[in-house]
Amino acid sequence: MIAVVVVRDGQLPAGAAETVAECAGLALLIGSGTPAAAAELAGVATHLRVAEVDGPFRPAAWAAGLATALASLGSAAARTVLPASPDGRDLAPRLAHLLARPLWAGAVAVTPGRVDLARLGGSELHTVAPGEAFVATLVPGVRGVVPTHDASPPILEPLSISIAASSGGPAPDVAPDAAPDVAVVEVLPADPATIDLAEAERILAGGAGLDDRRRMDQLGRIAAMIGASVGATRVVTDRGWTPHERQIGTTGVVVDPDLYLAFAISGAVQHVSGLGDPRHVISVNTDGHCPMMQLADIAITSDANATLDALEQLLVTREVAAS
Ligand SMILES: Cc1cc2nc3c(=O)[nH]c(=O)nc-3n(C[C@H](O)[C@H](O)[C@H](O)COP(=O)(O)OP(=O)(O)OC[C@H]3O[C@@H](n4cnc5c(N)ncnc54)[C@H](O)[C@@H]3O)c2cc1C
Repeated sequence: MIAVVVVRDGQLPAGAAETVAECAGLALLIGSGTPAAAAELAGVATHLRVAEVDGPFRPAAWAAGLATALASLGSAAARTVLPASPDGRDLAPRLAHLLARPLWAGAVAVTPGRVDLARLGGSELHTVAPGEAFVATLVPGVRGVVPTHDASPPILEPLSISIAASSGGPAPDVAPDAAPDVAVVEVLPADPATIDLAEAERILAGGAGLDDRRRMDQLGRIAAMIGASVGATRVVTDRGWTPHERQIGTTGVVVDPDLYLAFAISGAVQHVSGLGDPRHVISVNTDGHCPMMQLADIAITSDANATLDALEQLLVTREVAAS
């Protein structure tokens, strides 16, 4: 199996390392800044083919170039896995179409002979025999990956991929043998307030111990000040304090942030199983022994509502002082 990962300005997408690990360290990186991205995969990747491509991501044109490159790699690339990141989800169906292979989208585990697919928001798990050649996307944050720190750096092999030139005009580009590409007008930085939670690097989440829905509004204000996104437990979304797309867990979104701050969340298994592998966890709870406090790097035994008031006050004071 081979992972195909789109790199933008040296940045790997969410789920890149997991996808490479699922393919036993074999991957093809395509995009800009691939050497920097390759370095990020130390301890996970073993053999990387790297294709540096100029210009913005154009999924139809890139898919056409990639399909040719993958076909030339023969049986080593017959089973292709992409992270189910926005770019991966754009490329995967196009690649499947061009290579005349089935697409197994939204997988939580991929092996040559078996693919497990999460369906209906994760409440159903479907297992399929994927066939000899296929394209799959792996949901970020489910598999997890532990890099091997003493591993040798991956072998890097430059790969030339021919991408059809852009017309440069406002009309959609048409790559040979592929559907038209949209014209990229502008690339805007992600807004943590509206970003897909699965992509968020910092999350402030609220649970049932918060006073009322105004606390979720307060979480939103604090999150905006520290460039974080807002999440919640199912109890909170069921109360209608925040929309269901903000629910983290088995029947919500699977996330994989660097920083997770849990305010008044007990840490039920259905919640933490959607947490991925956060690098830092901070929990504020009156019950110092609940599972969320056990999981946390910093566990603060305190009233979460009062802590939110103090935190907001502190951040506002700092903002005023800085302005
Ligand atoms: C099939 C199924 C699927 C589910 N899917 C999900 C899912 O996707 N996501 C999800 O989150 N849940 C899910 N659940 C629900 C899950 O089992 C828990 O009920 C839920 O996660 C608990 O949310 P909570 O931590 O907000 O509430 P609780 O478990 O009630 O915890 C509240 C916490 O707040 C603390 N607290 C109370 N007052 C304060 C205070 N003033 N200051 C600080 N701390 C305080 C308490 O000590 C407690 O730890 C699912 C359940 C089932 C059966």
